[in-house]
Amino acid sequence: MDRKTRQYKRLVASRVRIAISGCLIGAKVRYNGEHCLKKPLAALSSEHIELIPLCPEVEAGLSVPREPIRLVRLETGKTGVFGSNSKHDYTTVLEKYSETKVASLSQMDLDAAIMKSKSPSCGMERVKVYLENGHTDVPAQGVFTSRLMKANPLLAVEEEGRLNDLGLRESFFTRAFATRRLKDAFTGDWTRRDVMEFHRQEKFLLLAHDEACYRELGRLVGHICDFTADDFKTQYMNLFQLALTHKPTVSKHYNVLQHLYGFLKSSLAPNAKLLFREMLVEFKELFLPLSVVMSTLKVLTKQAECGYVDSQTYLNPFPRVATFKA
Ligand code: SF4
Repeated sequence: MDRKTRQYKRLVASRVRIAISGCLIGAKVRYNGEHCLKKPLAALSSEHIELIPLCPEVEAGLSVPREPIRLVRLETGKTGVFGSNSKHDYTTVLEKYSETKVASLSQMDLDAAIMKSKSPSCGMERVKVYLENGHTDVPAQGVFTSRLMKANPLLAVEEEGRLNDLGLRESFFTRAFATRRLKDAFTGDWTRRDVMEFHRQEKFLLLAHDEACYRELGRLVGHICDFTADDFKTQYMNLFQLALTHKPTVSKHYNVLQHLYGFLKSSLAPNAKLLFREMLVEFKELFLPLSVVMSTLKVLTKQAECGYVDSQTYLNPFPRVATFKA
């Protein structure tokens, strides 16, 4: 397979599969019979992304409409879910459903999840917890999402509100799309050569997330012939996804940008080199956003006609049309 064919194969990767709280995309499943539609999230459903809606409370058998529920920390220390007015105990039904649903989702090949904030079922963090006397206590995760995240520690999970933050949104979609590319790389009759090519394109994305994992993955690929196909696949996929759980920082990006610039500089005019070096310093000192440096690097990559840098997913971690503007 030549490089063009391989890149084509990468671009037509299968759709990213994202579980999402159904009320966020317009399902009228909330306690009051309404939805809380976020149009940009509903619009994610596209040729690039498949949304998989769920509603833990309705799927667990609660009615629409229903009384609101809340997390309550009992004197025993255990946290349960109770009706806000009736005090009816919904803990068992929601916990049981969550365990069954999380197990069934593991068969659905998820790449990421977007959950409704503040919900006692779907909230990812800082969900209000009450004491039996009605006072508030240390916040917690929703019943369903806590189990989802515990069973899938490498899954990219975010709440709808946090996705309005550009950095968090880019990080979330980068992880989701990288995970899908990874799975696609190991689907069907993959060969060692395919995987080496895949790794070559993902190298700087991995370095931007975690240098230790990046080096370990490099060693793994270097010794690919020493493994059985299944052993290699398991170790590579786990380590790759572990790398993505580490957040890129300014200094990690700076390191990667310097590396990539190193491949280009011999082909660039002196004024272009000077401009980019100055931009790197301004980026490191937080005067310039990453997006500006990245756009300039892409232009310089085209000017230098450097296919190696051009093929790095670090420069194009996901299709822009796949995500939304806040
Ligand atoms: S349980 Fe989750 S999906 Fe269902 S209404 Fe509440 S927040 Fe929305």
